[in-house]
Amino acid sequence: MRQLIAGNWKMNGLTAEAAAIAAALRRGADGLACDVLVCPPATMLSTVAHILVGSACAVGAQDCHAESAGAYTGDLSAPMLRDAGAGWVIVGHSERRASHHETDAQVQAKARAAARAGLTPIVCVGETAEERAAGRHAAVVAQQLTGSLPPGFAGVVAYEPVWAIGTGRSATEAEIAAMHAGIRAELHRLLGEQARGVRILYGGSVKPDNARALLGLPDVGGALVGGASLEAAAFLAIAAAAR
Ligand code: PEP
Repeated sequence: MRQLIAGNWKMNGLTAEAAAIAAALRRGADGLACDVLVCPPATMLSTVAHILVGSACAVGAQDCHAESAGAYTGDLSAPMLRDAGAGWVIVGHSERRASHHETDAQVQAKARAAARAGLTPIVCVGETAEERAAGRHAAVVAQQLTGSLPPGFAGVVAYEPVWAIGTGRSATEAEIAAMHAGIRAELHRLLGEQARGVRILYGGSVKPDNARALLGLPDVGGALVGGASLEAAAFLAIAAAAR
């Protein structure tokens, strides 16, 4: 399976910057050996999707509501995001689990809503520094998977240790290899044969200088990239290290 390099722009940039990055990705993504995806803020989704239409770079959203319509002021549904040009959506990012108090059950409902709308969900899991220090990281991630993945899940899982996000300190190769093996086993337990088709991305301070080593690890199906995805050259350098 091809690796997936997904960029999460978070709440950064305005339309002019987004359009400039998208134009650079349109040129640069052609001929890459991996799949490439960018997830801009929702206000820029249709602009970015318009620039990237027909290119090798797909477009996704950073979150969706679990309902498809209704009295949810300020929220965006999966069908709306699809209508704006998204084909993918990140759900359960640790920043949303922390600052919006999203539970595993809510993340699962969002993943279901995404699939219903024809979006591929990227479900994020990952332990805090305290949980790792207490030796609970494997159990925490297994519990997040059990609670967050709907039956028959056919999306992508992103393992993102919270302490590695935006810190410049990625997990070690040994930590990533061990966790990805654990996640694969858990996916088999939850999904049976269908687990084979689920890519497991690593996320947390992936940069051009560590991408080749991290993407070369067993069962790393790609990367979810935050900070380095805001610069087209850095993001494309990471994608060039993928297979
Ligand atoms: C992220 O927020 O998903 C992420 C991985 O961020 P960064 O690459 O900046 O650590």
